Amino acid sequence: HAKESGRNRFEFFSEKIQSNMQQTLTTEQRMRHGLNHGEFELLYQPIIKTSDGQLAAVEALLRWNQPFPQNMGPAQFIPIAETSGLINSLGDWVIQEACRQHEAWKEEGLPAIRIAINVSAVQFRSKDFIDRLTAMIFESGIDPSFLEIELTESTVMKQMDETFQQLRRLKEIGVNLSLDDFGTGYSSLSYLSMLPIDKIKIDRSFIHDVEHNRRSLAIAETVITLGKKIGVEVVAEGIETNDALEILRDRECDLGQGFELSRPLAASEIAKWFKNHVTLH
Ligand code: C2E
Ligand code: MG
Ligand code: MG
Ligand code: MG
Repeated sequence: HAKESGRNRFEFFSEKIQSNMQQTLTTEQRMRHGLNHGEFELLYQPIIKTSDGQLAAVEALLRWNQPFPQNMGPAQFIPIAETSGLINSLGDWVIQEACRQHEAWKEEGLPAIRIAINVSAVQFRSKDFIDRLTAMIFESGIDPSFLEIELTESTVMKQMDETFQQLRRLKEIGVNLSLDDFGTGYSSLSYLSMLPIDKIKIDRSFIHDVEHNRRSLAIAETVITLGKKIGVEVVAEGIETNDALEILRDRECDLGQGFELSRPLAASEIAKWFKNHVTLH
């Protein structure tokens, strides 16, 4: 009896593993197909100056409008793209599309809008990433000082020598660097102070309850102070309430991003947002 149920359990698990693998495989194939058939889109979430409500930048966020199954977000499909090697072509598409949109907004008569792009760890570490980025910037005509590269804290705090060289090279081509999801990785503070970064983004896990949770508030305040001391701008991600916005403005957190300010928007909505929300009250 025991033997039999043991074997059943083993068969059950191996079927499950196999079905997970098949799922990953088909997701990868569907992603590849989707990339060639215009299923990917960028939405743009405003990042605003907390002091006066001006639009400081937008963050490009990838969406996959696949027919079926619905609702797979980048947090789910980016890791699959990373293990399958598709991340480089998907990442290149994001860079090209964001640069193209930046130029298109300018042609519509809007002022040049700073645009932030997320770059995954695998993409960042791929050998010719900087050469490809340089070529794409050149081809699009974007002024690289309007481009921000977001790397997560955990990406940057690994293989530090190599990472430092790579960040220096990025700064040399003239783009800005942001440290994303800050507070969730394991920062070496002495290393952090040497990094050529322009912005730190406080992870939204500390912002979503900043008005109720004293520990979250303490962490947010500490990062804001740290930013001021090492001379980098600080963004609070995931501002969901007016109370949170007030608290962060009061602590002189330079920049804010979150559903309270705006959800991620289609490119056409950004043009409208820009015209209607020049100041925020
Ligand atoms: P992230 O870079 O930290 O982006 C912020 C995420 O927080 C976005 O989720 C955004 O929609 C969400 N968000 C913004 N404000 C709020 C808020 O007030 N409350 C809550 N609960 N969430 C808020 P999204 O678009 O699902 O992206 C998730 C992650 O996927 C991103 O986190 C980023 O790491 C990754 N990602 C998105 N687009 C790309 C891309 O083009 N390339 C790469 N490599 N990664 C991407
Ligand atoms: Mg980001
Ligand atoms: Mg983040
Ligand atoms: Mg995140």
